[in-house]
Amino acid sequence: MSTKELLNYDHIVIGSGLAGLFTAIQLSKLGSVAVITKRGVDESNTKYAQGGIACVMDKEDSFKEHVKDTMAAGDHLFKEDIVRTIVENGPAAVNELIELGAHFTTRGEMGHNDDGKDYDLGREGGHNRRRVLHAGDITGEEVEKILINTCRRNENIKFFEYHIAIDLVTTSRLGWLGEDSVLGVYVLDTKKNQVKTFTSLSVTVASGGAGKVYLYSSNPDIACGDGVAMCYRAHVPIANMEFFQFHPTILYHPTVKSFLISEAVRGEGAILKRYDGKGNLVEFMDRYHEMKSLAPRDIVARAIDNELKRSGQNCVFLDIRDKGEAFLKRRFPNIFEKCLEIGINMAKDPIPVVPAAHYCCGGVKTDINGFTGINGLYAVGEVASTGLHGANRLASNSLLEALVVAKFAAKDIKSKLKILSETRASGNIPTWRSGNATNSDEQVVITHNWEEIRSFMWDYVGIFRTNKRLERAKNRIKNIRREIEKYYWDFLITQDLVELRNIASVAEIIIDSAMNRKESRGLHFNADYPQREPEMDYVDTVIQQPYT
Ligand SMILES: Cc1cc2nc3c(=O)[nH]c(=O)nc-3n(C[C@H](O)[C@H](O)[C@H](O)COP(=O)(O)OP(=O)(O)OC[C@H]3O[C@@H](n4cnc5c(N)ncnc54)[C@H](O)[C@@H]3O)c2cc1C
Repeated sequence: MSTKELLNYDHIVIGSGLAGLFTAIQLSKLGSVAVITKRGVDESNTKYAQGGIACVMDKEDSFKEHVKDTMAAGDHLFKEDIVRTIVENGPAAVNELIELGAHFTTRGEMGHNDDGKDYDLGREGGHNRRRVLHAGDITGEEVEKILINTCRRNENIKFFEYHIAIDLVTTSRLGWLGEDSVLGVYVLDTKKNQVKTFTSLSVTVASGGAGKVYLYSSNPDIACGDGVAMCYRAHVPIANMEFFQFHPTILYHPTVKSFLISEAVRGEGAILKRYDGKGNLVEFMDRYHEMKSLAPRDIVARAIDNELKRSGQNCVFLDIRDKGEAFLKRRFPNIFEKCLEIGINMAKDPIPVVPAAHYCCGGVKTDINGFTGINGLYAVGEVASTGLHGANRLASNSLLEALVVAKFAAKDIKSKLKILSETRASGNIPTWRSGNATNSDEQVVITHNWEEIRSFMWDYVGIFRTNKRLERAKNRIKNIRREIEKYYWDFLITQDLVELRNIASVAEIIIDSAMNRKESRGLHFNADYPQREPEMDYVDTVIQQPYT
């Protein structure tokens, strides 16, 4: 394997979802930008976002109310100043997206009789009013398309598709003295099977979530927590990883993988029901929360989990039959069509759903600028933990956070360009060292470990946790991690191996974080500590690999 190629850019962005692309657009005003992305440019969680972007765009709405709803979901773990800043800077960031060409559905398009220019705002769980901008039910696809086109037209931005970032190059990794700074990234070109060294003034990690750490997930295959694992290895603190959001309503069907039934469907009146044993579909959320089917996601997911375990049934149902076919087709064209493909007409049949891992609320600890504490190193989007979400994310706040923080990150990088240039000028970066790599004929080891991790994470570290389950998971991950570290250095590096190492690392961080938190709060529920402990209010769980 060749490891010689060295590439120089002013700025590197890892990831081409909304966070990465919007950051790249901002950074392109400062110099050249390499966007490194492990699959095709559009493959990301962003592409699959249906519901939309939560933002105060209606004169009847207010920042105060959006802040209040965000904090209610966050369950006394959020950072209030961060919540306010993101909410208040939302409209400017969203308007910038609109100026780039993003189109959001208007009331006129939904057949309302007013002047038709105002946006048709959706409502989702935990929001006390309609405030979610959407492009039908394919918001992510619309936004991703606009951002990719904008980047492609920009001469300062260059995409490196099918390039997976392996590890960050930092001054401490190279044994240089002084404050830790990022110098670049080691990247595997998966088409040429070649490791390249990228150098830059700044690196922004925008590698998205980690849903693939769980057996059942709404996330596409790219979501392996690579950014969290890379930053952890670079000694960046990782915060609140025990808070993993399980989306309550993923389509339950043997032939469909990871298809989400957006929360907006409940926002438009769908009711969660299950069979009562006598063949009748009955509502059950009234026993769990005053907002019933529109309760925050953690409560709904746990309620469904409980109902399924009690009844032994495989799924529950979303019932929106009273809305009529014309409305459902107009409001949810994508979901309507997907359901129809498998013989479910939303206007006539209830939709079978189950919960699945959806959103990683914790991540690389940053400030409002996405700054990690290592000079030049930033994390933006789902990979990061700014303090907006706290113990639970309010629906559709993630795209908003990525937009706002991307702008702040670029501004912060701009203000530090002089000092970053001095670090870059001060030394050479060695190329990637492959160890005694030989070709592996044991692909089965990778596949087995991958499946084992995802299964025990689902069974032991999922919606319902206990001390015993967490201990079991910890014992298993310790062995697997040991095996992977040995394997990693003995065999030729491949995308599968990079991802497996990262998934294992993230799984261990989630387990350790869950074991550290001896209470239940937001998305983290441990039956051995079922109460929220007031002394743990606003206390983050932080895991950091020590500098030795
Ligand atoms: C089905 C679904 C529906 C959702 N609906 C909504 C919604 O309606 N509203 C909302 O606010 N949020 C929603 N979310 C969450 C939201 O989509 C994500 O949080 C958000 O898109 C994350 O954006 P991102 O740019 O941080 O990451 P992503 O969009 O996931 O992009 C990550 C990028 O990093 C790349 N990458 C990862 N690792 C590496 C590596 N090692 N090297 C190189 N590249 C790498 C990936 O290939 C990808 O391009 C939804 C999520 C899903 C899965």
